[in-house]
Amino acid sequence: MKYLVVLGDGMADYKMDVLDGKTPLEYACTPNIDRLAPLSQIGLVKTVPDGMKPGSDVANLSVIGYAPEKYYSGRSPLEALSIGVDMQEGDIAVRTNLVTLSGEDDIANKTMVDYSAGEISTAEASELIKAVKEALSDDEFSFYAGVSYRHCMIIKNGTTATHLTPPHDISGRVIGDYLPSGEYGDKLLSLIERSHEVLKNHPVNLERIKNGKNPATHVWFWGAGTKPSLDNFEEKYGLKGAVISAVDLLKGIAIGAGMASPEVEGATGTLSTNWDGKIEVAKKCFESGCDYVYIHMEAPDECGHQGDVWGKVKAIEKVDYVVGEMVKYLETQGDFTMVITPDHATPIVKKTHTAEPIPYMIYKSAKPNNGILKYNETDAQSGEYLSSGQLIITKMLETK
Ligand SMILES: [Zn+2]
Repeated sequence: MKYLVVLGDGMADYKMDVLDGKTPLEYACTPNIDRLAPLSQIGLVKTVPDGMKPGSDVANLSVIGYAPEKYYSGRSPLEALSIGVDMQEGDIAVRTNLVTLSGEDDIANKTMVDYSAGEISTAEASELIKAVKEALSDDEFSFYAGVSYRHCMIIKNGTTATHLTPPHDISGRVIGDYLPSGEYGDKLLSLIERSHEVLKNHPVNLERIKNGKNPATHVWFWGAGTKPSLDNFEEKYGLKGAVISAVDLLKGIAIGAGMASPEVEGATGTLSTNWDGKIEVAKKCFESGCDYVYIHMEAPDECGHQGDVWGKVKAIEKVDYVVGEMVKYLETQGDFTMVITPDHATPIVKKTHTAEPIPYMIYKSAKPNNGILKYNETDAQSGEYLSSGQLIITKMLETK
């Protein structure tokens, strides 16, 4: 038996006038999903436990089968795993953005101009982080380069009690009220201020300014967390698993859970991602002995954040394409079970994640259902309600 999860990040949404009163999932042309829906178990699933934020970290952990209440220790540690940081007990991982702040002298008067430093390239960023590392690392603080503007700092025997603010939450605002505070606050603020000395005249930044791009003027810290300890996926569920994703966070979950996380060339997490590349790598995972493959697609979420309704419809049609190609392949390989689900909703009108239950669909080639449901937010309301995301894998493994 092969197990496949097709995860459309942020795919669930609300009904919209511009879509004739339908949701993007209802509106999109999805012939492959439509064919299997009447043979599948469909319902709503609650992937975000009460009291937790509807982040992709929390929601994907849940769908992969790890109760976030027990296993979630912050986003940055999962990203740290994905960039190869070997966290020790007592270490705190802190997400370190390269950001653009405005030019006032007093740090408290500066404005958060750009939380991504103009979506700086990985090559430029790694030079800058290298310079920051050389100037600011010591026995207590060490810096690690990641992807684009997303990097990591490890604090030896640190604390998560420092009050930190995600920079994308304060775009365009004066940062005085959002500087690090509480335990370690002064130390982290000092690192931010000293990073400017390293970065302001760095050739990479001078070149960016010359080309009209936002320079990376400072580092900015947020999202601190302790070393995650995920039980090994194979020991927990008896399946050899792989996660295919363009997103660091998902790779981190895979590494933490002892699952494979193969690279896909051209995987970007956007509409222009290498969809066929993901399909090919998924097939290769099955062929090399994986029982469980999780294909994560970020594009519907991206479009949700951008408020791009037609992009989201298109992204869902791409998800359906992946479903179609994978089903064609799996039908030649014997019995299989396939789950289609978002991790959370990213409604276009909100441009951010929400925590409400989302529609899942489970198709078992060996035991087709004879329901009558379509796969969307509306019909799923009359199906079986799953009170946690981990019940997805429980239901996948049921033979009845
Ligand atoms: Zn997500």
